[in-house]
Amino acid sequence: MNEAVSRRAAMRIAAAAGAALGAAACAPAVPPGACAPASGRPPAAPPAPAPAEPGSAARIDSLLERLTLDEKTALLHGARDPAPLGQAGYVPGVRRLGIPPLRLADGPAGVRVARRATALPAPVLLASAFDPALAREYGRVLGREGRALGQDVLLAPMVNLIRTPYAGRNFETFSEDPRLTADLAGATVRGIQDEGLVAAVKHFALNNQERGRDTIDVIASEQTLHETELRGFEAAVAAGAGAVMGAYNKVNGVHACESRPLLDELLRGRWGFDGWVLSDWGAAHSTVAAVRAGLDMEMPGGTHLGTPLRAAVHGGSVQEAAVDLAVHRILTTMDRFGLLAARPAARPPRDAAAGARLARKVATAGAVLLRNEHGTLPLTGPAARSLAVIGPTGQVPFVGGGGSAHVVPDGAEAPLTAIRRRAGKGAAVGHALGEDLYGRALPAGLLTPAAALDDRAVGPGQVWRHEGEFRLAAADEWTLLVHYTGKRPAVRLDGAELFPVRQGMAEHREGGLLGTAPDGKAVRRRTLTLAAGVHRLSVTAEGGARGQRFRLRHVTGAIRAADLAEAVRTAKAARSVVLFAYADATEGSDRASLALPGGQEKLIEAVAAANPRTTVVLNTPSATTMPWLSRTGAVLQMYYPGQEGAGATADVLFGDVDPGGRLTQTFPADERRTPVGGDPLRYPGVGGRQEYAEGVHVGHRWYDARRVTPLFPFGHGLSYTTWQYEKLTVRPERSGLRAEFTVRNTGRRKGTDVAQVYLGPSPDLRLDQPVRALAGYRRLTLAPGQAQRVTVDIDARALSSWDAEQHAWVRGTGRRELFAGRSSGDLPLRAKVVVASG
Ligand code: BGC
Repeated sequence: MNEAVSRRAAMRIAAAAGAALGAAACAPAVPPGACAPASGRPPAAPPAPAPAEPGSAARIDSLLERLTLDEKTALLHGARDPAPLGQAGYVPGVRRLGIPPLRLADGPAGVRVARRATALPAPVLLASAFDPALAREYGRVLGREGRALGQDVLLAPMVNLIRTPYAGRNFETFSEDPRLTADLAGATVRGIQDEGLVAAVKHFALNNQERGRDTIDVIASEQTLHETELRGFEAAVAAGAGAVMGAYNKVNGVHACESRPLLDELLRGRWGFDGWVLSDWGAAHSTVAAVRAGLDMEMPGGTHLGTPLRAAVHGGSVQEAAVDLAVHRILTTMDRFGLLAARPAARPPRDAAAGARLARKVATAGAVLLRNEHGTLPLTGPAARSLAVIGPTGQVPFVGGGGSAHVVPDGAEAPLTAIRRRAGKGAAVGHALGEDLYGRALPAGLLTPAAALDDRAVGPGQVWRHEGEFRLAAADEWTLLVHYTGKRPAVRLDGAELFPVRQGMAEHREGGLLGTAPDGKAVRRRTLTLAAGVHRLSVTAEGGARGQRFRLRHVTGAIRAADLAEAVRTAKAARSVVLFAYADATEGSDRASLALPGGQEKLIEAVAAANPRTTVVLNTPSATTMPWLSRTGAVLQMYYPGQEGAGATADVLFGDVDPGGRLTQTFPADERRTPVGGDPLRYPGVGGRQEYAEGVHVGHRWYDARRVTPLFPFGHGLSYTTWQYEKLTVRPERSGLRAEFTVRNTGRRKGTDVAQVYLGPSPDLRLDQPVRALAGYRRLTLAPGQAQRVTVDIDARALSSWDAEQHAWVRGTGRRELFAGRSSGDLPLRAKVVVASG
């Protein structure tokens, strides 16, 4: 009854606001019936994590009546946190009426605040397990930590599709596949919200790259949108996400945060979303248009929804009812999560041990074994007792990516330590850096006058200067690095600033591997060729209000050559090699190349030539090209494995667990043959505009449609045992299909496989359709010799395509082909089935 009252109140406000905005809440462009939520789901929010208090709906109405316009607009944008916990956003409440403040923290791979937290494996690694139940557990850890760390809203999950392998945030999201993304988005949202934290699914929509993200206009057809990028958001909404974050970019000509088709018509009208929409940080661009479109909250400040909104209300271009509607959405959601309760639920303590356990479980479950020749892995017998661990990330654990998803972990062991422990006492485990990421101290006696630059502290308010020179006997390639806390020192070489201030991306976007030294200092680096002779160096360090500390370091061509030679010697001396390779990634920029950066390709070639029993462990954000692949014994894709990555990597290397992950994105054979390769209009865009011309053929669907053979197909991943697939049958089941087949572990080890089912096109639809779309999957673990009859249910949505003329899903009837197997490129089983009309 209370819910009905509240709903009536919301509708009253919505109607008033709609009239005020000159539009119905569901715009005429949307077909009749489209305002009803899809798939028969009731419009009500799913069960509230904390039951609403009796009378709470009436209480929200009464709050709205008592709030002043100033107080209401203050609820619609961020402000400075008077008691900062280090989170990304803060909205002051209204104390006199008992509305508490909201704290909003990133993010997808762990709770990002000013304290340590569980740094979980990157979402792409979670996704690789193809296991929605595991995603729910992951969400629960996020939810509990967020609540324990004083937060109310988690800016997660990110569900934008991996459309281009270059995109800087591919590690933060799940997959190139819409179906898999939808399953994981729903499960993660449920997990976060199980614990009482509001999930803000992001970035709605089409924020599939970082290049030009603030301004780029993404053009995608209605069919493309519904069948690809929107699936994850729709699933998150269906799972009850309390909030949705609007993206930076434009969608079909309009900024996402002021797009009525996206926010008002689709999100609220069609999907029945009844939470609130907040902007990405700085993604709101207007007042009237944004409010009209359905943006409820601006972050991080009130540039548009603060004073300008009040002025717009006073001036009559926005009616107060529109403000009330936005406040109503926020308060209703807060109430649903128990945040308006007179006595809110106590926050739980952190359970760091449980977080660490889950982090390890996810990292092993998602580990993808890409290649394994001649039994290189698992490491057993003599191969496990004489090892060389090579690579800088063997020694400095690569925990997570940079940008807003960066989390300061409770702790993280070095892979070298975990491998030494697992190899045991009698084993010989050597280590070589291979490549020096953080540099060596400048040689003593290099500088004239002499200056100690390897650990310099500058007190608050002080300024420290060095002016001098150094002489090089021969020309060489130098990398100069500055590690610092506080304000970055100005370093000039031969009169030119070595580390200029970055444009666009804020300096504070720390994190990732290269941007942070092992002791947490920020790092900047610059490589240049220095001629023989004298060079002038000046350093100015300002202590500022809180003082600073810095060190200046270097790597030369000669040092690089020596590191490589030492790696080769270490590899030769061991029976097997584990070489850790990295590629850094962060929000704010895309990767310039899919090749491993720095000297790593050369390092792998040289080490694998010296010892063919070389396993390359990849701590990379997304697909990489591997011209060196055929030289290696094995390749293990661990992405950014989180704080327990070292132990998890050792678990897989030594065969304590079967590598259970499968690729959630296609790895291309070369950079020219990707869904966006060779067409700048597809990527990165031309003149601020970009077209998703691949249409519904995103990711693996493109490789199938164009018959392009990738390096590794979507769904690929080896196991330490062998598998056989048999006897596929398929029959109609309710409104969908049921596929059944037998999966047999034919090897001698217990193993985990991900059985995958793909569906071919309908002959009856005159719409563009994928050659094969992922329709379902099942992760299973079987003992040696064990067989299991696997059932995969294919729902009505999987049988449907989006018809832009009807603005609706239409069922793909007729004789269709079904495929089952171990990846999109390995589908031994086929069956035909007639799909009847619904
Ligand atoms: C990112 C969001 C993040 C926000 C707050 C933005 O730059 O795009 O994903 O949640 O910052 O940190």
